[in-house]
Amino acid sequence: MAPGAARLISCGFPWALAHAPRIGNITLKHPMSSEHAKVVIIGSGPAGFTAAIYASRSNLAPVMFEGGGGYVEPLTVPGGQLMITTEVENFPGFPEGVEGPHLMDLLRKQAIRFGTDVRTADVTAVDFSERPFKVTSGEDTVLAESVIIATGASAKWLNIPSEKKFQNHGVSACATCDGAFFKQRELIVVGGGDTAMEEATFLTRYASKVMLVHRRADFRASKIMVERAKKHPKIEFLTPYVVEEILGELPRPGVTAVKLKNVEDGTTREVACGGLFVAIGHRPNSDLFANVLDMDDAGYLKVVPGTTRTKIEGVFACGDVADKVYRQAITAAGTGCMAAIDAERFLAEHE
Ligand code: NAP
Repeated sequence: MAPGAARLISCGFPWALAHAPRIGNITLKHPMSSEHAKVVIIGSGPAGFTAAIYASRSNLAPVMFEGGGGYVEPLTVPGGQLMITTEVENFPGFPEGVEGPHLMDLLRKQAIRFGTDVRTADVTAVDFSERPFKVTSGEDTVLAESVIIATGASAKWLNIPSEKKFQNHGVSACATCDGAFFKQRELIVVGGGDTAMEEATFLTRYASKVMLVHRRADFRASKIMVERAKKHPKIEFLTPYVVEEILGELPRPGVTAVKLKNVEDGTTREVACGGLFVAIGHRPNSDLFANVLDMDDAGYLKVVPGTTRTKIEGVFACGDVADKVYRQAITAAGTGCMAAIDAERFLAEHE
């Protein structure tokens, strides 16, 4: 493989099952070979779609790979993390709040309206060793004069063996997706950030009780979210605990309890529960660019400060894959706009 070339995994996120064109179990691919695009956008969260809106309004006819093509297991789903977010209250322009999936649907429609070619497919390899760059999805390759990377981030897991064992049998990282399966159960949510508070609060719609397990007594989450969760009669806080083991039986009843360890005094206790939701943050989806682009220790892509330029001229990165500080939908959208403008200027200079 040439230097600057890489092979990977995914660009997408949780959604497109419902959106991918399918016949039975076969996802339809867009016929393409040696196509030439001015801009290829990889990823379809707020960053990707904002880049698409700007690039298509600049007549750059962007091609977007939104994920969800079935090449990657588990199946990636387009739309980014907002697809698994319930109420978004802090995206400007929505005084009453907006459901995450609805917001993504609006952004997608806006991008398509101006001519973005959105493809429900995963990028499986890139070759940035020379221009035009090659962006490959399965057996098809698009030649790209510029590339905008907007692959976002994915949920982190606890990485204990029983977590894998009980996935889809009581262990989940997405309350929005799976909460309705847990009616009238007592549930555990692990984490101390905004996601954990949001998931715990959301799960009270279904659960008889939600226990929020966090390894510290202090919370990374914003005060307002912690207060909301603390005030909720169905939510109990358990700190400072880590989950040592998830207990239960397969295939039924699935998860029945967790073994918690107090990180201060080392004692352990078993807590009965009917499900566990992991909400401990995210990791950037940057594997595709390993050994191709510079990234920090956590895998966030490095860009020239104040721009979206990566170390390869003509390749730009935006949104959560390149942002370990802010990680908000609105900042992702903002850097998506920057990436489209950076790409447009780059193309104008290199025409
Ligand atoms: P986060 O802020 O990074 O918080 C992750 C939490 O999980 C931390 O409390 C951390 O504990 C804990 N944790 C990490 N690894 C762990 C492990 N192995 N075992 C146990 N606990 C572990 O992640 P996030 O909550 O997903 O939020 C990410 C970003 O999205 C934030 O900027 C947040 O504000 C934003 N967000 C906003 C909203 C909203 O406004 N509606 C909703 C969700 C997320 P420590 O604190 O001890 O490190």
